[in-house]
Amino acid sequence: MHQHSRTDPYADRYADRAAGMVASEIRALFAVASRPEVVSLAGGMPNIAALPLDVIGGMLDELTRRRGAEALQYASAQGDPELRARICEVMALEGVHGSPDDVIVTVGSQQALDLLTRIFVDPGDVVLAEAPSYVGALGTFAMYQADVVHVPLDSEGLVPAALRETLERLRREGRRVKFLYTVPTFQNPAGVTLTAARRAELLDICAAHGVLVIEDNPYGLLGFDGEPMRALRADDPDHVIYLGSFSKTFAPGFRIGWALAPHAVRAKLVLAAESAILSHASFSQFAVREYLMTQPWHQQIKSFREMYRERRDAMLDALESMMPAGCTWTRPAGGFFVWLTLPEGLDAKAMAPRAIADRVAYVPGTGFYADGQGRRNMRLSYCYPEPDRIREGVRRLASVVEREIEL
Ligand code: PMP
Repeated sequence: MHQHSRTDPYADRYADRAAGMVASEIRALFAVASRPEVVSLAGGMPNIAALPLDVIGGMLDELTRRRGAEALQYASAQGDPELRARICEVMALEGVHGSPDDVIVTVGSQQALDLLTRIFVDPGDVVLAEAPSYVGALGTFAMYQADVVHVPLDSEGLVPAALRETLERLRREGRRVKFLYTVPTFQNPAGVTLTAARRAELLDICAAHGVLVIEDNPYGLLGFDGEPMRALRADDPDHVIYLGSFSKTFAPGFRIGWALAPHAVRAKLVLAAESAILSHASFSQFAVREYLMTQPWHQQIKSFREMYRERRDAMLDALESMMPAGCTWTRPAGGFFVWLTLPEGLDAKAMAPRAIADRVAYVPGTGFYADGQGRRNMRLSYCYPEPDRIREGVRRLASVVEREIEL
């Protein structure tokens, strides 16, 4: 074996921010979970098979022939103006009225998280995030050496009283909060949604403390009942930066997301994006724009919702009938995820290899916190497997948990 394969020969020259970079637990899990005999309740992959791929193929073919000279050329770092106008129409479904000029297209909403953290956070700065929070955001905050302070959530989303207390404590300690990062609707990983009353409270508290809110909303249009929730941004354009994405409502492979930000922030984001990517992937932008202009995308989102609702029902019914007493879980009204809490004394992380051996995978809860909480938790996703596989996965999981209880 080569002597350098175990220790990193470049370890002494990385920047501080790179020294702390480690592969997420989810990444390692995906490798095993993707074996066909394993029912994976771990991944958060949208179900692309539900898209009419032949129709999309025809659209892309036509696009190349008709607009190839533009679609294959360099483009701006802010994003195609026509696409930004369409994005504003999408956000209007959640009560958000933004100008295309205040939108920046990003490489998935993940890049928006990166750019925002880059322009706002110096090492040691405080960033607030729900407990638990989206693992990809926590990774980005760690990369920029933010100090993540968690605020608890419950079945109605982030707890306003806890937010107020945390902000007051930080103020007393003389610490400045750069922003609150929240996924208010169909949260990843908890599957809960901030209620309308709490939305108003959250905005009041943040405005009173001068705290910017980053509202990350990739699942907002994937609700199972009624009309989309009104976005936080709709009620406070000056304090809220809205992040959106076509990854879950169309396809993640195009890598098209966006941020809608106050004008001055948007200008900084564009400068940061120029350094990061120089130009957008023009073809992806044209593809999404063409899709929005020529295809029945409302209808497609409706069929995604119906498919995911059926899977959510399969998971909740299976949990209800099979999980041992002492387990509790959330009941998502949209999105992809259920958050399960094991009985006292059990450890979801220690149990994960035993679950894999029993051919079921989930994501242990600890990865969704910056501070080691979440031992008794796991994220279960119902977005990808068929309903029968979901039931089988829950059956296997229930028997693993039962064995752990008996140990
Ligand atoms: N935010 C949240 C809450 C997510 O769940 C995801 C995807 N898992 C993202 C952001 C990033 O998505 P994308 O970059 O594909 O838009």
